[in-house]
Amino acid sequence: MEHEPKTLQQAIVYFADPERCFQFLKARVFPNGAICPTCQSKDLRFIATRRLWECKTKHPKRQFSIKVGTIFEESPIPLDKWLTAVWLIANCKNGVSSYEIHRAIGVTQKSAWFMLHRIRLALRAGTFEKMGGPGSEVESDETFIGGKAKNMHAKRRAQFKAARESSMTGDANLVNKTVVWGVLDRESRTVRATVVPKVNREALQTAVLNQVAHGSKIYTDEASIYKSLPKEYTHEFVNHMERYVNGQVHTNGLENFWSLVKRTLSGTYVAVEPFHLHRYLDEAMFRYNNRAKKDNPLNDADRFDAAVRQIVGKRLTYKELTGKEEGWKEAF
Ligand SMILES: [Zn+2]
Repeated sequence: MEHEPKTLQQAIVYFADPERCFQFLKARVFPNGAICPTCQSKDLRFIATRRLWECKTKHPKRQFSIKVGTIFEESPIPLDKWLTAVWLIANCKNGVSSYEIHRAIGVTQKSAWFMLHRIRLALRAGTFEKMGGPGSEVESDETFIGGKAKNMHAKRRAQFKAARESSMTGDANLVNKTVVWGVLDRESRTVRATVVPKVNREALQTAVLNQVAHGSKIYTDEASIYKSLPKEYTHEFVNHMERYVNGQVHTNGLENFWSLVKRTLSGTYVAVEPFHLHRYLDEAMFRYNNRAKKDNPLNDADRFDAAVRQIVGKRLTYKELTGKEEGWKEAF
């Protein structure tokens, strides 16, 4: 579509018009024309005054709006506020708190919190495709998130260190931290990160097997956890004595991502329950994987577009994914 907004200021002005919100979403939700979400029929009547479609087939829920099946469904918050929130979260490098959303767009902080979680849900990559592949190079590493090490009692810090280095125990609960494991594909320069139950050989090797394609060359640090990875992978680890001998063997790419995540978590989101950590990871991954690169200079409008497309792409799975969560009606 022509003349779509390029900056936050333009987006706020542009989406103040409900017709533009509708047209913007329609082009993304129904690129090939509207479809009844109940019976998949294309034989519909459009009620322009209410921006609703009505299916000509007789069945319950014949009328539906552009929000149906998306993360906006059943939300009483108007689309202009939703789209502004999506713009903010897709583009603020260090994240945006529910308090900031509350003040910026004029919804309650509780509403802002629910909006942010739903947007994060939409930003989840949602792919089961493995990273890497024959001959490709990936970095694999894990990190601990939560409870600051510097505030820890010396004995607990020693336990933490032991957990990090041991391949036998490594129970993160021991040190009140959540373990996050990640993989970075050197070629696409994208990451995938996930919360893992423990930091032991079994948990991390399972993560590698689930997320990394056979034939990949995996670079890790020296942790004994990664030693004896299955023979389907080529494994090289950082040897601190020889690290300058082979400059390819490092996990610096992932370490940069970890510092980005930690900066966001400690700066913007003061308290993150371990239960919700994966959602913050989804958000951080979205921004990282859609960052501007020399060969792909994405801008704010491109990231916003990508985020909205993921939101509408969640049409079929939204209910399934949120089945265990509080519904909108409880949230407001
Ligand atoms: Zn129908």
